Amino acid sequence: MLNIVRPRFPKLDQIGDAFGGALVSGNVTNNGPYVRAFEEALSEYLGVPTICFSSGQAALMTMLAAAGVEGGNVICPSFTFAATPHAVVWAGARPVFADIDPHTLTIDVDDVESRITDQTRAILGVDSYGICCDYDALDELGRRYRIPVLYDSAASFGSVYKDKLSGGFGNAQIFSFHATKPFSTMEGGCLSTRDPVLLEAAKRIRNFGQEDNGDCRYSGLNGKMMEICAIIGREQLKAWPTDLASRRNAAFSLYEAVLLPHPGLAAMDCMPVWLYAPIYIQNWNLSRDEVIAALARMGIMARKYYTACHKMTAYRAFDFELPVTEQIAREVIALPVYSDMTQTEIDTIASALVSIKNGEV
Ligand SMILES: *Cc1c(COP(=O)(O)O)cnc(C)c1O
Repeated sequence: MLNIVRPRFPKLDQIGDAFGGALVSGNVTNNGPYVRAFEEALSEYLGVPTICFSSGQAALMTMLAAAGVEGGNVICPSFTFAATPHAVVWAGARPVFADIDPHTLTIDVDDVESRITDQTRAILGVDSYGICCDYDALDELGRRYRIPVLYDSAASFGSVYKDKLSGGFGNAQIFSFHATKPFSTMEGGCLSTRDPVLLEAAKRIRNFGQEDNGDCRYSGLNGKMMEICAIIGREQLKAWPTDLASRRNAAFSLYEAVLLPHPGLAAMDCMPVWLYAPIYIQNWNLSRDEVIAALARMGIMARKYYTACHKMTAYRAFDFELPVTEQIAREVIALPVYSDMTQTEIDTIASALVSIKNGEV
């Protein structure tokens, strides 16, 4: 069975000594030596100050609070994992959903601009499947309207935008290191920012909002990464260049073999990490759901990612109409991409899709 994800972790003997040492010393969390070393390695790799979190979601909630979002509206896409609007609600704000660009599947910059009001507290872009938002255009929009621009880059650790690694764009970005994401520490995440004030606030919020003198300026949370996760993360970083190259090779081979070019793939300013390889089912003899079922019969798990969040029970009362999001959410299939995908596995998925498309199965 080719599962939708296949996490790749270091072997126990690569991390056993470090973890054993942490257990013996009792230094297992609260910004321990391995977390600090991992943060240093991440900051160097991404080229921007970076701090670790217990999850991508904790980093996302912290980023919104550290950027001063408290009430008001936050403009974000509906075509994303539900974690994105949920974090907006936990910040006490209301998500204002914007449509996406059908070529990049990321938030449509003109639609974002049309939704800016005096209630807008932030723009929150999402790097769908690891495809970068149009960072330059959104950052410019934020500067023009004096609104913070934040990125839920949960899926795009390692993605490259116009020759620069994702990480230093907008006012801040967060990444997820969950087991389903390309780069994983089991559970975990990080926040990157060039803004020293935002960084300092994020550090406080991550630790219950506590100041050195015991006072709390922010109603913080517990977002601290455990040492075991940082120990794994440091090992993962060593294998990362190879993993990244193999993910890109897998995604491109799939697109090439299936001759289903992702619209605009060639024109994108981004070299994604490919959390999944999205394809559209348009003008096939089968519906999208039938294609997923046919793939499952052939031992390949594909998913309907993403579902439009504005249609979910939690959000549908807001009554947004987002034609591009709605159409793509009906047609898209997320295909698996692994950090250690073999050529045989790539060929299996590609030939399965070709035979389904040609009505041979
Ligand atoms: C995975 C994901 C999150 C949540 O990250 P966790 O590490 O699982 O908490 C948030 N936003 C998006 C877009 C994601 O894909």
